Amino acid sequence: MTAVGDVAVDPSVDGAAPLVGEAARLVEEARSFLGRTPGPTRVARDPVNLPMVHHWSQALGDRNPAYLDPDGSSRGHLVAPPGMLQTWIMDAPRDPSAPSPSDEVMRRLDAAGYTSVVAVNYEHEYVRELLHGELVSVRTYAEDLSQEKQTALGPGYFTTTVYEYLVGAEVVGIGRMRILKFKPPVKADVGERVRPAVGRDNAFFWEGVEARQLRIQKCGGCGVLRHPPAPLCARCGSTEQGYVVAVGRGVVYSHVTHHYPPLPGVETPHTALLVELEEGVRIISELAADADPADVRIGLPVELVFQKVPGGQLLPAFRPVA
Ligand SMILES: [Zn+2]
Repeated sequence: MTAVGDVAVDPSVDGAAPLVGEAARLVEEARSFLGRTPGPTRVARDPVNLPMVHHWSQALGDRNPAYLDPDGSSRGHLVAPPGMLQTWIMDAPRDPSAPSPSDEVMRRLDAAGYTSVVAVNYEHEYVRELLHGELVSVRTYAEDLSQEKQTALGPGYFTTTVYEYLVGAEVVGIGRMRILKFKPPVKADVGERVRPAVGRDNAFFWEGVEARQLRIQKCGGCGVLRHPPAPLCARCGSTEQGYVVAVGRGVVYSHVTHHYPPLPGVETPHTALLVELEEGVRIISELAADADPADVRIGLPVELVFQKVPGGQLLPAFRPVA
């Protein structure tokens, strides 16, 4: 496989920011795991099989008969596409109490503050072709750990994890994944949140927000409630529109927390919420700034607040019911 990412490095700066105390100790401890015996071995959930090869071949547009057509294959049998090597062990069961040397390196870099990661490149070396029915396993070790580098993303360390792919005790392929573990930049001015587009159909909603009311559109024809606002009732076809004011209570129907990349006017971590209101409609909103994303779960009772986001815009948000 070829490079999946690229990071600009200033070669003139190498270890420029001296590490002190605990972080330095952790990085040196991480270094002590380099070159240690690979392990533990994780075994694929499924053997090499034609259905997965079909999905791969279709996705990549590679119809090589050696992968798909036993009669068209010059080998007399089917083989797996070499590039599928990693897919066979994806989601292979892992024992969290038995970390690999590479896991040990990552844990210490995390603890030293280098918590962000970007893949730099991933190389595969294919020792032999994989046959259908073979059960692949993998074990990893940490190959190297650079000195601290100043990169465009922040200060960090490059490190390579080696994946040894096995069938039984035989190594059938090797993967080398190089990543940059870096310190995320300290919180800077996040800029201004994008302003909503206000038009004839949703002006009542934003006027409501200014008045600290959460207004839900109500059809003037059949009385159905809906959000977001629309010009026409999907149920009865009426263009007559009114609204009700939500009481401001509901439950979390779904949620996702955004960490990266930075977005204008958004302080991370930022939790977007899909709230099911007591009135029966769902609204996309966000977690109040004073609430903890770790407390959010599906079904959590929440209540409405109004808060100013960076740039001064007033927006509805929700926080857990006290
Ligand atoms: Zn209607």
